[in-house]
Amino acid sequence: MKVYILQLGEMGNCTYIVEHKGKGLIVDPTWDMKAIYRLLEDEKITPEAVLFTHGHYDHVAGAQELMRKYGIKGYIEASDAESSRLPEEQLITYDGDHSEKLAGLTVSFLSTPGHTKGSVCIKIGDILFTGDTLFPNACGRTDLPGSDPRQMTKSLQRLAALPGKTTVYSGHAYGSDGTGSTTIEKEVKNNPFIKMALREPDNFEDMI
Ligand SMILES: [Zn+2]
Repeated sequence: MKVYILQLGEMGNCTYIVEHKGKGLIVDPTWDMKAIYRLLEDEKITPEAVLFTHGHYDHVAGAQELMRKYGIKGYIEASDAESSRLPEEQLITYDGDHSEKLAGLTVSFLSTPGHTKGSVCIKIGDILFTGDTLFPNACGRTDLPGSDPRQMTKSLQRLAALPGKTTVYSGHAYGSDGTGSTTIEKEVKNNPFIKMALREPDNFEDMI
């Protein structure tokens, strides 16, 4: 299994392509479809499905075209399907935690609401795509429509309980090294929002 990272658009969005035996899963394809097509063609990857971490526009912009081009569907948690404004017939929805075999890999969608109601983190082996739930040293905004700081507290607690060696690939190229990548171990040690969620969950709402 190999993970390709593309930073696309002006908001530093990260699109990820997971390749396994020539098949591909595309996480949050957005903004620059040509860059994604180029990578798929150069690396001879046949896309099998799209995986969305949530329905915000900056994570789905252009995905409709990509899914049509390759005749594939996108997995999205049911609560975020409508806000994504993607055509229903291109989506496969599920409620809460869900697991699926895709591209020969076990893909686990972990329900982590807070940033949006239908936000998920996508776990494949010891890799975790966190979308806008967890960033290096930060977490997603919880002041938007559909956000809920109390749910974010619980979601961060859930992520903190994952194995420390889990590699985190977040939805934007934030963080001191500008990659948007980190590990659960580093975040449990350093991330002020995770610390707050673990130690003072009742005060979390006032912090953000
Ligand atoms: Zn978002």
